[in-house]
Amino acid sequence: MLARPGLPDFEYIKAETFQDVFDWMKEKGDDLKLLMGGTDLFIQMRDRGEGPGFLLDVKGLPGMQEISFDRKNGLKVGAAATLNSLSSHPNLLTYYSILCQAADTVGNYQLRNLATLGGNICNASPSADMSPAALVYDGIVVVESPRGERELSLDQFWVGPGKTALEKDEFLKRIHFPTPPDKAAGSYYKLGRSKMGDLAIVGVAVLAFPDPNQPAGVQFRIGINSTAPTAYRVPAVEEFLAQSPTTDEILYKAAEMAMDISAPIEDQRATAIYQKKMVRNLVYKGLKEVREILK
Ligand SMILES: Cc1cc2nc3c(=O)[nH]c(=O)nc-3n(C[C@H](O)[C@H](O)[C@H](O)COP(=O)(O)OP(=O)(O)OC[C@H]3O[C@@H](n4cnc5c(N)ncnc54)[C@H](O)[C@@H]3O)c2cc1C
Repeated sequence: MLARPGLPDFEYIKAETFQDVFDWMKEKGDDLKLLMGGTDLFIQMRDRGEGPGFLLDVKGLPGMQEISFDRKNGLKVGAAATLNSLSSHPNLLTYYSILCQAADTVGNYQLRNLATLGGNICNASPSADMSPAALVYDGIVVVESPRGERELSLDQFWVGPGKTALEKDEFLKRIHFPTPPDKAAGSYYKLGRSKMGDLAIVGVAVLAFPDPNQPAGVQFRIGINSTAPTAYRVPAVEEFLAQSPTTDEILYKAAEMAMDISAPIEDQRATAIYQKKMVRNLVYKGLKEVREILK
């Protein structure tokens, strides 16, 4: 027997319209999976040695690869927009730089020509690199079904490792990011086992922007992956930072708070205690970096 058997057999179908998707999903039920870049799905099918009988390619549906931005409405990213199309987009580089930074850490360049933002979000991996960035920009997922569109925040969407709040007849259509506050600065730090496109042991996105209404004169948002069943924000730490002068001591205390909140599990990539300490270190590094940019 081969150590790595090939893909199980499946039938490929290309959806042309939303109605096609509704019809196929209804007809095939659990024997059908939606396909975008396939960079998560094919690996899972290969490793399990079994898969759905049908893969429905939804990349070509209207609007699925579109990226649009205006200052009033913010950014709309079709679920099938590739990570390379995000990281080279001028509006994203200007207004949503953490999405670009995070995208550039995923796998390698060739992979990012296939891998999509929607696939990264729908796969709901706790270590997904796009999650912390999507969280600090208050991403909203827009899902489609025969009943029309509905919107969910990311913390409503991710319900556990590999699990989303999608109903059986729903699929992800686009992700909406409101316009970030003026003069926002951001960073994404990822720790992997190697620099050659490894999954995150810890990833931390930090966004900061001036806010004269806060005692600190600034607000921070922090998104963290790989250290809980889903990626998450740390509102208690963000509130603490807004109330306090942004000295090194305060930033370090905030990073320790984030470490205490994190709840990693031991796995083949790192021990839990190491991950917790890396949460502290990367949060501190990210906070200091954005504080300097805002000065
Ligand atoms: C070598 C390698 C390295 C990688 N490195 C990283 C890394 O460093 N960081 C990282 O975060 N990820 C990494 N990944 C994982 C993967 O590349 C990303 O998660 C990618 O963004 C997934 O997008 P995709 O379009 O390929 O998704 P797909 O594989 O097409 O789909 C992912 C899941 O979403 C479902 N789905 C697809 N479309 C929809 C839809 N419209 N609505 C609802 N559900 C849908 C699929 O059925 C599947 O369950 C790596 C993968 C490989 C193979």
